[in-house]
Amino acid sequence: MLPPWLATTAGDYGSISRIRQALNRYGLYTVCEGARCPNIFRCWGEGTATFMILGEVCTRSCRFCSVRTGDPRGLVDMGEAERLAKAVKELGLRYVVVTSVARDDLPDGGASAFAEAVRLLKGAGALVEVLVPDFGGSAEAVAAVVRSGPDVFAHNIETVRRLTPSVRDRRAGYDRSLAVLRAAKEFGAPLTKSGLMLGLGETFEEVVEALDDLRRADVDIVTIGQYIRPTGSPRHIKPARYVTPEEFEKLGDVARAMGFKAVASGPLVRSSYMAAELYREALRN
Ligand code: SF4
Ligand code: SF4
Repeated sequence: MLPPWLATTAGDYGSISRIRQALNRYGLYTVCEGARCPNIFRCWGEGTATFMILGEVCTRSCRFCSVRTGDPRGLVDMGEAERLAKAVKELGLRYVVVTSVARDDLPDGGASAFAEAVRLLKGAGALVEVLVPDFGGSAEAVAAVVRSGPDVFAHNIETVRRLTPSVRDRRAGYDRSLAVLRAAKEFGAPLTKSGLMLGLGETFEEVVEALDDLRRADVDIVTIGQYIRPTGSPRHIKPARYVTPEEFEKLGDVARAMGFKAVASGPLVRSSYMAAELYREALRN
């Protein structure tokens, strides 16, 4: 049973059907719909959406994620970036988040697909945030994405250092993720961003330590939200607890005091929650 602060009210799907129809027509997949994100009415209403490129089969298996694990056998949909840019232009989306599954089966981890999507989306007039996998820690892959010109480069550390091995796929790593973020900044990313889920058994002090590590990696924007178990399957880790809105607020204050340029901390916060607003806030600070 979820606590009351996680309850969300259903919206009017008719109001967003224009976007849904166009996305279906172009054969595009959004995390907003796929993950049944509770913020969809707000985000789509404001011209923001998160698209998943490079398919729906991930080479990894994280214990908090409901994406299917498998071997995509190197397959890449070559026309995807072009369709994405066309759809974004047609719908007049102003802020687009592009993310993907981990593609350890591709030599560059999917970096060139991200780069192509960014270039075409920028050409379509959108602001672009990329939320990338760790590319196996490849600095060249990070550089290729940064060179394509995203407005925000995001990569999530997901949880605190101690819990990383039991929560994320064994090929992910806390220090590797920090290194990806640091490298993006060094290669010239204008703004970098990361996200954490709470309720996995971490202590307040461990979250503060993770925030400190992110600041040391020169990360500008942070999101902190509640982990919600995607299914009851034993594969999916049970939440240790539901963190109260007051605790989220306190951590948000701690993060702001540390010097992050923009912070979102609350039970319903997701990586791309209020992404456009956070971007604008970061530019102001
Ligand atoms: Fe989509 Fe992210 Fe908004 Fe959820 S928070 S609706 S995933 S853009
Ligand atoms: Fe899910 Fe990403 Fe982990 Fe794949 S790498 S299982 S998409 S969180």
